[in-house]
Amino acid sequence: MINRKLFINNEWRDAAGGKTLNVVNPATEEIIATVASAEQADVDAAVAAARAAFTGPWAKLSARERGRLVWKLGERLLEKADEIAALETQHNGKPIFESRHIEIPAAAECFQYYAGWADKIQGETIPVKGNYLTYTLREPIGVVAAIVPWNFPLLLTAWKVAPALAAGNTVVIKPASQTPLTALALADLALEVGLPPGVLNVITGPGSKVGQMIVEHPGIDKIAFTGDTSTGKQIMRGSAETLKHITLELGGKSPNIVLADADLEAAVRGATTGIFYGKGEVCAAGSRLLVDTSIKDAFLEKLAERTKKMVPGDPMNPKTRLGAIASKGQLERVLRYVDIAKQEGADLIAGGSRADIGTGKGYFMQPTVFANVTPQMTIAREEIFGPVLAAIDFADVEEAIARANDSIYGLAAAVWTRDIKKAHYVASRLQAGTVWINTYNIYDTAAPFGGYKQSGFGREMSMHALEHYTQVKSVWVDLNM
Ligand code: NAD
Repeated sequence: MINRKLFINNEWRDAAGGKTLNVVNPATEEIIATVASAEQADVDAAVAAARAAFTGPWAKLSARERGRLVWKLGERLLEKADEIAALETQHNGKPIFESRHIEIPAAAECFQYYAGWADKIQGETIPVKGNYLTYTLREPIGVVAAIVPWNFPLLLTAWKVAPALAAGNTVVIKPASQTPLTALALADLALEVGLPPGVLNVITGPGSKVGQMIVEHPGIDKIAFTGDTSTGKQIMRGSAETLKHITLELGGKSPNIVLADADLEAAVRGATTGIFYGKGEVCAAGSRLLVDTSIKDAFLEKLAERTKKMVPGDPMNPKTRLGAIASKGQLERVLRYVDIAKQEGADLIAGGSRADIGTGKGYFMQPTVFANVTPQMTIAREEIFGPVLAAIDFADVEEAIARANDSIYGLAAAVWTRDIKKAHYVASRLQAGTVWINTYNIYDTAAPFGGYKQSGFGREMSMHALEHYTQVKSVWVDLNM
């Protein structure tokens, strides 16, 4: 049994009220850890430590030295990847293959990418009217709170913490209450690599309570949030009172469009990885499959065949490619949407039920495909955040684009076609922050990621994210003699 405390000012502390939270392994339903459940006094202490570090030791380090420490965090993550990947799998239920070979290396890469930026964040000189030297300074914002969901606990922490630290901010991390263990492991590494006290703090506790304390806290300058669109709206409302900087990476209902001239084998593979990677608990999951009517029957037959071969298994087995749904509540939510889809008249062509991997335990779900979904049905409109695909027909490219854009969300989209003109035309018309052509779910720290419409605003990763962790100061010097 793992017992973890709060990480404040480079010290491990019990929560002020002495309360703890249990962490459950969704593949075994066992309690694997307890973590501290923070109170207002703990949030205050973390923010005070972050503030003192921001104006003190962290500000005094050179940008290059800061970058070196951020680089080391990435390096240590890679060195401890086996151990940290195991934690990620145990609290989230994702296959160890994904944790060990995709998520943890991507988190490490994110730290190392931004480490390189630390000493390249610079201002400019401006040719103004009159006899003045005018230049800009690009400065950090201050204390950044990173509020992270449970689907990619360490990676989404890295997307926020790495650019924040590289730009000279200090951070308070609030992981999701279901998956706090890898953010706490990152705190271990912060101590090992020698981050000054207060630069990185981790406070655990229920989102509704601790998250709200963060939102209302006058000592926090910026919130970087990933999570549900409704929570994002609450954060935006709450932050208005203290006018915090915010970036919101929210939900999605991303369309994956298969045109009639697509390489159908590749598109079938893309449709399945698009929705079933990460158990569909991926904000950019291709959860709406739009298929040209002329190829629909053949395409869906192949898709159903491939889906039925995908069987969930023990997430700790290196051969498993489909793990456990992250929590009991999430499994219930997914099953509710399956019922709604049936009631509304969609045709179930694969999956549809809870799965048993032979242990009689764990929140496993069969990968599920519904055909003949209409754009008005609930599963075509609401984010399920699970392994459920809704297949919708279209008659021509214009109808495909219209249906793709018929959503409050705009996080990602894809188009499958052999026609280069059509590919770029469709990409230009899709209202989404990321468009994939003949591929799906590809990411790189150098490429920006974020939403259009109610999928949020701001970008994570790439040089664009740095804009959200810095502010610009204009300095005027009178040169009149
Ligand atoms: P959630 O909104 O319930 O929780 C996210 C985080 O916010 C957690 O740390 C939670 O404890 C905290 N929180 C909850 N209530 C809060 C409040 N009132 N004030 C402040 N913080 C609060 O989301 P979730 O269920 O953990 O994650 C799933 C959602 O995240 C999905 O909608 C998914 O699409 C989205 N997501 C988006 C992206 C993206 O980049 N756009 C990436 C991953 C996940």
